[in-house]
Formats: sequence, structure tokens, C-alpha cells
Amino acid sequence: MISLLKRNLLRKRYPWNMKKYMKINERIVVAGRIVWSYPKKIIMGVSLFFILVSAVPVVDTGCTSFPRMSKIVSDFTAPSLMASPQIKTIMGTIKAGDTASSLLNTYLPLKIIYDLDRRSANIFPLTRIRKGHPYKISLLEDNLVAFEYEINQDDRLVIQKETDTYSISKNPIEYEIRQETISVDIRTSLSEAIKQSGEYSSLTWKLADIFAWDIDFIRDIQPGDQFEVLVGKRYRDGKFHGYSDVKAAFCTNQGRVYKAFLHEDANGRKGYYNEKGQSLQKAFLKTPLNYSRISSPFSTRRFHPILKKYRAHPGVDYAAPRNTPIKTVADGTITRIGYNKTMGRNITIRHFNGYETSYFHMNKYAKGMKKNTKVFQGDVIGYVGKTGLATGYHLCFRMRKQGRPVNPLKENTASANPVLSEEMDGFTLQSMKYSEKIKAAQNLALIPPN
Ligand SMILES: [Zn+2]
Repeated sequence: MISLLKRNLLRKRYPWNMKKYMKINERIVVAGRIVWSYPKKIIMGVSLFFILVSAVPVVDTGCTSFPRMSKIVSDFTAPSLMASPQIKTIMGTIKAGDTASSLLNTYLPLKIIYDLDRRSANIFPLTRIRKGHPYKISLLEDNLVAFEYEINQDDRLVIQKETDTYSISKNPIEYEIRQETISVDIRTSLSEAIKQSGEYSSLTWKLADIFAWDIDFIRDIQPGDQFEVLVGKRYRDGKFHGYSDVKAAFCTNQGRVYKAFLHEDANGRKGYYNEKGQSLQKAFLKTPLNYSRISSPFSTRRFHPILKKYRAHPGVDYAAPRNTPIKTVADGTITRIGYNKTMGRNITIRHFNGYETSYFHMNKYAKGMKKNTKVFQGDVIGYVGKTGLATGYHLCFRMRKQGRPVNPLKENTASANPVLSEEMDGFTLQSMKYSEKIKAAQNLALIPPN
């Protein structure tokens, strides 16, 4: 919650209309419409009332109607003519065995509770309230005026007294969001560096997700690598409540700089893009061969033509003429290359995101292929043959994700779209702003201490 001092300051600065979000010192401040000027004490007293019952109809003051979303209540300060000292709140966390009925039955007849339960089913079923979650009951002369339950870190269920019924809604929990730039230098690992900088491991996972298509966070990260992250930190009542979106992140990995910028399109879909507006989410090539036909699909059970028995076939066979070039379907590193009685000449490549692909029965390898060679999507790695256990010329193509065989035809084969051309100007402007913030933080870090 914003300090009273700051609110008074705001009120002086914006005496008549504070109804919108105002960005102050990089903090998103939500303020209500202030139309009265009351002494501080009264404001303090009645603001509590408003925290509880923001939706109680406000006497018409001739102003535009009062914002009724409960999400702004925690920063609400306007006094009301209806302010009443009888408002009582009960706050707590759900205990084992608590139910909506046991919590509310003192103030509401069971019939109404059942009705609320029925009506809340689509929003959040009251039967699903869980141990450990905070709740708040607001009473006016022992009558329930509001019940709030925190579903998770993001949303709360709000049941509010209206004239002759109760409204049920799910409202976002409002946080104060502070944008911060966090810079870390890698000595051992990213998670270690993040911890050293006083941040939490959830930030490591966020970064790993963003760059998962470009960087192998277990093997590629080296001492001397750097990360700069512009991220929102959520606070509520002064307490840290996790990170919101990473707005931008720079990663210098083995001398190469990767940049990621958050962009939300007109449909509200969020994604990370490089400076050119290309999605960081990469796709596999649809097939490792240009001219081929599938001679045996991926299956968990098929009749093996040579072994003459049913076996799983955790790959896709492409029949193709001898020496048809075989391409790697994505960037990666060769982890295995060699001859095997069953698989013949074969290559396995480790990719981003825990993926691995294997190419069996090759006639020969492409030049320069050896263990630990870096390969890039579309590079020819070898040529179709029938080495090992094979009846005809074909490529047996296999894909694993986190060590488990997956059907390559069903994995993500479509790259996320780039930023739409009509949104490109906005994207560029935004990403420049983000970059400036990161650079400003870098410069600040360079100033030597006195
Ligand atoms: Zn096969």
C-alpha cells in the first residue's frame, strides 16, 4: 500500500481527478477519485471502510460514479458519506476442515450459501476453498457485506452485498509493481548468480524459458557470461510477492548477445522477440529430407519387417533414394556419431529445450561431422543409406524430449509468428525504451563508489 504521505502528496498534486493509473517513480500507483478534503484521521478511518466495501453504493455526489472494482480498494482513500464505524472485518487463513458454510453460516442462512455456491460455480466454486489461503469477511451490524477469498497470487473471489442480492466476481489482486533492472555476471551458473544478487530462483526459470530456444542453460552457460533483466517485482503491503513479466532481457553467452523483448499483440497474446521482431520461439524443420515419403510412422506398436515381431517404433521412417541429403531439423550439438549393428551409421543431436534428434541408417556422414560439432538448422549432416538393420534405403528419424521418445510430426513444427507489421513501430519504440532502461542501469553500475 502506498504510504499516506505519498497519497497526500498525490492529492495535492491532483486534487480533483486521480481516477486513473499514475506512474510515479516507476511505481504503478492506483488511486481513486478524490472529491472531498477531510482531515487525515477521518480519511484513515474511512479508508478502511472502503477497503472492505468498495461496492457499497455511494451517495451520488454529482461526480462520475465511483470505481467499483475491488482491485483498487487497497489504495483507496476517498471518504464516503456512508462511512460507518460499525463495519467489522474478520481476516484469516482457511484452516483444515473450513468450508464456505462453516465460515459464513454465522452471518448467512445456509440457503443463501448454497445459492452462492451454485452461482459461483462458473467463477470459482466455493467448495474449492483451500487450507492456507487468506480470506476476509466484512460485516455491517453482523450482516455480511463482503467475503473475499484469495484463489491464488493473481486473483481473488469477491462476494459482495448488493441491494437485494450478492454479486460474485473474480478480481485481480492489485500489486504495486516496481520495475527493476537486475544484472548478473556468471561465475558458476545462472541460478547461483541470481541467488548471489539477492533474487529468487523463479527469475532463473523465467530467463531459462525465454532463452530456451537459443541457449542450453545447463551446458552453454560459462563463467564470464552476463545477464541483464528488466523485470517487474510485485509488492503488496511492502512485501515481495514474486515477479511479474520480464519486459526485456539481454544475455551475453560466449561473447554473443541475445536480446529478448516482451510484446503483447492486439489479441493479448504475449511473446518474446528479438530486436527485429522475430519470435524467439523457434521451430523444427518439418522434415529432415526434402524428397521422401513416410514409409513407417511413429507408433507404440508395429510389425518389424526384419525381426518379424511387434515392436514399438519410436520414430518416423522416410523412404528416399540413396544419398539423399539429411538435414538437421534445428540448431544443436552432435552428441553421438558412429556405427551400430542396428542403427547403422547414426548421428544424435542435442537441441534447445531438452530436445534431441537422431538420424539412423546413413550411408555416409557429411564432411566435418564429429562429436561436439555445432550444427545449424538445415545443415546437411549425412546421406540416406541402409546401414544397420534396414531393408531398403531410408532414414529413421527419432526425436526425444527430456529423454522420452516423442512423435516428431506432432511436436512444435510451427515457429511463432513475428511481430505483426502494423505493430512493428510500437514494438520498436517499446524495445528501445526497455533497452535504455537496461543501459541506464548498466551505467549506474559503472559509477565507482565514493
Ligand atoms: Zn525407423
